[in-house]
Amino acid sequence: MTVTRKWYCTCSGKPLELANVETMEDEPDEPTCQLCGATQSSDPRHTIIFKDKEEWDD
Ligand SMILES: [Zn+2]
Repeated sequence: MTVTRKWYCTCSGKPLELANVETMEDEPDEPTCQLCGATQSSDPRHTIIFKDKEEWDD
C-alpha cells in the first residue's frame, strides 16, 4: 500500500490542490499555491491542509 499525501490551499474558499512546481536545482521541491503562493512551510494565513490518499495498487 502506498499513501500519497495531497496538499491543498483553502485561500479561495475551497480546497485547491497545490501544484508541484519545477524549481531551480538548488531549491527544495515544494508544492506551492498558484493563487496566494503559500507552501507547507510558508503558510502565514494557515490555509494549507493535506489529505492522505491510500492506494492499494502495489
Ligand atoms: Zn492559496
